Formats: sequence, structure tokens, C-alpha cells
Amino acid sequence: MIRLFVDQDLAAGQSLPLRPDQIHYLVNVMRQSDGAAIHVFNGRDGEWRGVLVEPRKKVFAVRVDALVAPFSLGPDLDLYVAVVKRGRLETIVEKAAELGARRVFAVVTERTNSARLNLDRLNVIAIEAAEQTGRLDVPRIIGPTPFAKALREMEDNRRLMFCDEAGDAPPAAEALAGLAPASEPWAVLIGPEGGFSPSERARIRARDGAVPVSLGPRILRADTAAIAALTIWQSVLGDWRAS
Ligand code: SAM
Repeated sequence: MIRLFVDQDLAAGQSLPLRPDQIHYLVNVMRQSDGAAIHVFNGRDGEWRGVLVEPRKKVFAVRVDALVAPFSLGPDLDLYVAVVKRGRLETIVEKAAELGARRVFAVVTERTNSARLNLDRLNVIAIEAAEQTGRLDVPRIIGPTPFAKALREMEDNRRLMFCDEAGDAPPAAEALAGLAPASEPWAVLIGPEGGFSPSERARIRARDGAVPVSLGPRILRADTAAIAALTIWQSVLGDWRAS
């Protein structure tokens, strides 16, 4: 079933005019035509069944029929990641959306090479990944934010899985295994190509609720580290556990 993210409110009987890029995707890429069944979601009203209609030649809309799934959210898990090269950051956003992160904060650390971010492009990637996964929300992409500010503004009760390749951190799955399944909010933190500076590491480790973890004996690229860390978190504390 094709799923389309839309901005408009959703209710039975509503007709949603589609933007040219949405029409191009449905009609030219997915080869859909008048009468095709599709699902729509907007990140707040759940998922709805609809029908593609063509009131005028080459002008399309979705006629919303019925609620298929009420709105629900996955675990309260954010990803904080240092801004890395464009392609790797795009991969991180796509995989974070697939792996259930609610928000992705792109942060600028002392060793971040570039603070440039194409938020429009990253938002498109997040929407496409959310459409594909079946989730009912789209992760928010926030940044670029100086890392010290992001750390200061993080909610006091949010626990932090600090992926620390340097030193003595315990293996991630073991470090998380002793903790209660996530009823409190969590964040995963991944550094830049050059790693965190010693003062940043000290500041992160001093934060209440920080859990330094190792992702094994090999140094991973930031995109691999983000995927590995989110996977371990979902397996041990998140919605990959049997409920
Ligand atoms: N400091 C490294 C260097 O320049 O040799 C590279 C940092 S690594 C490319 C980017 C980030 O991925 C790190 O800051 C850390 O958050 C995470 N990471 C990579 N490998 C890791 C590991 N084995 N254990 C924990 N975190 C890791």
C-alpha cells in the first residue's frame, strides 16, 4: 500500500489537493491513476485510507475515506549526531527514521568540520523513510546547534547513551541490559569524524543519566555507529523487545 505524508488535517470525507511533487510521485513514479487506493498520514491524526481522484485533467487529490490506525508514537528516543559529510548525514537521517528515532539533532562539536546543513533535503529524506516504514510520525530534524547548547537544553530526565570509542566504556548491550525498559526519554549520542575532544567527553560523562557505552573494538564511521547504537537501544530497551 502506498503511504503518503500530507500536511493537512485528516477526517472522513475530506478532499486533499496534492502538490505537484506528490502528483509526480504517485502518477509518474508509482504509476497510479484515478481511483487508486492509498493511505495518508500527517503525524497527528493517525493513518487513513483514501482514494486518488482526478477532478480535472492532471490535477489530483486524495478523497479521505476511513481511519485505518489511530495515532501512536514509538519510544521517546532522540538521536544527537555531530554534523558529518553530507552523504553520511543523509544516511543517518534515513536510518534513524527507519529505526524509530523521534527527533534528530545535528550538533556542532569542537571537531566538527562543517556546520552546513541542507534541512530541506534532510526533511524530505525523513518523510520518505517514514512513508516507507509504516510509522505514523515523521522524525523532526533540528540544527545545526552548538553541541554545548544542545546538551544544556536537553531535558533533565532524558538519559543519554554516549557512544564513546575512546577508553573504558562497557559494551553497549551489557551497559543497557541492567536498566529498566525505557519509560523515561532517551537519547543516543554520536560524535564527528574526529571524535569528541577530551573536555567534551568529560562534560558528557559528568551529565546525570549519561551511560557511556562501547560499540566494540573497532572504530566505526559515524553513520555505522548511529545505526548500531539505535539498533542495540531498540533491542534492549525499546520496541524491539517482546512486550
Ligand atoms: N575518534 C575517532 C578517530 O578519529 O579516530 C573517530 C570517531 S568515529 C568516526 C565517530 C563517532 O562514532 C565517535 O565519536 C563515537 O560516538 C562513535 N563510535 C565509533 N566507533 C565507536 C565504538 N567502537 N564505540 C563507541 N562509539 C563509537
